[in-house]
Amino acid sequence: MIDRDGFAALAEQTLEHFFLTPPADTEQYGIGVTSGTSRSKVLVAMREYPVAQGIFSSGPGRMLSTRGSLSTALNNAVFTKFRSRHFNARILTLDRADYAADIMPLLSDFAPDGITGYPHIMSQLADYMDAGTRDGVRSAEYVGEGLTASLNENLRRSFPRAKVSMAYMASEIGGIGRSCEFLPENQYHPLSGVTVEVLEPDDTGEGEVLVSKTIAFGIMVRQYRLADIGRIKPGTCRCGKPVTFEIVGRLGRDYVRLAGATFRRDLFDRIATANAELFEDYRIEAFLENDRGISRGKLIMKVYKKGGVGDASIRKINERFLTGLYVTPTQTLGTLVKKGLFSPLEIVVVEQPFPDETKEAKIVQRI
Ligand SMILES: [Zn+2]
Repeated sequence: MIDRDGFAALAEQTLEHFFLTPPADTEQYGIGVTSGTSRSKVLVAMREYPVAQGIFSSGPGRMLSTRGSLSTALNNAVFTKFRSRHFNARILTLDRADYAADIMPLLSDFAPDGITGYPHIMSQLADYMDAGTRDGVRSAEYVGEGLTASLNENLRRSFPRAKVSMAYMASEIGGIGRSCEFLPENQYHPLSGVTVEVLEPDDTGEGEVLVSKTIAFGIMVRQYRLADIGRIKPGTCRCGKPVTFEIVGRLGRDYVRLAGATFRRDLFDRIATANAELFEDYRIEAFLENDRGISRGKLIMKVYKKGGVGDASIRKINERFLTGLYVTPTQTLGTLVKKGLFSPLEIVVVEQPFPDETKEAKIVQRI
């Protein structure tokens, strides 16, 4: 099993191999670079690209691409262009900074028949396309993040004639899985040569996703921890593929796993929304506490409300989370506190609103 640090060493091996013994068929290789947005070291690795994966093989003629930063998007566009001479697509790459009312005529002039990129960005971009332009989109490939029900609905309304496919990948190791016409959102079949496993699945089958595949030059990454949470779905798909996996969230952003319990951000959010009169916003810090040799889980919850949060409200917030927060399929946080596996919830009132960040981590695990 390896994590990002372990992967960094493998990534260096691929670069070394490429420069010391350059392959003859350079078209089969590209450089994968992580975006650096997850606040960790940027990873650079050579990658072997199987020709013709996904919609690029049959290919739209005019493709609109919005993938992360402009540099990532350009990298993708150049590479797609380079390996897709057989369909000769034109590619328009847009950055978030480009979204302004004046791009509407540009988009209707370009008239994309295919779109590819992060679904939430594509959904924002749809506001800058007229109905005719959106109707012209026949294929949509979503990558980089999962689809929530509302985002999915919004995209289907925006691009009603698009055949949707989803790709699951990581910048540093490339493609991992792809959806098929029979699978619901966020479910994929592993690509050929890729093995997907789930580490220590809980009662519902959820656990950290591990990926094994060859990156380049026969250098393999084995059981790479991507920090995504998922599960293996039982049964053979109607398309005939034997393995299906589902990605349910990202560790550290949507999930924290601690002392046998899983803390899901969406559950916190649901309880917070239902108790909006008590507090407006929150952040959670989760960690293992050592109490005289006994290790216990501990949560510190910071809450904010304009005008402050009184003692009576703090007691109510405490009660709502202890009884309403299911951290295993059958047990609440309150049950685990009673069993002594967790310390009581600690609520801290803060005076200032929390900073608004793009990759907002509401639940943070402290080590
Ligand atoms: Zn299938």
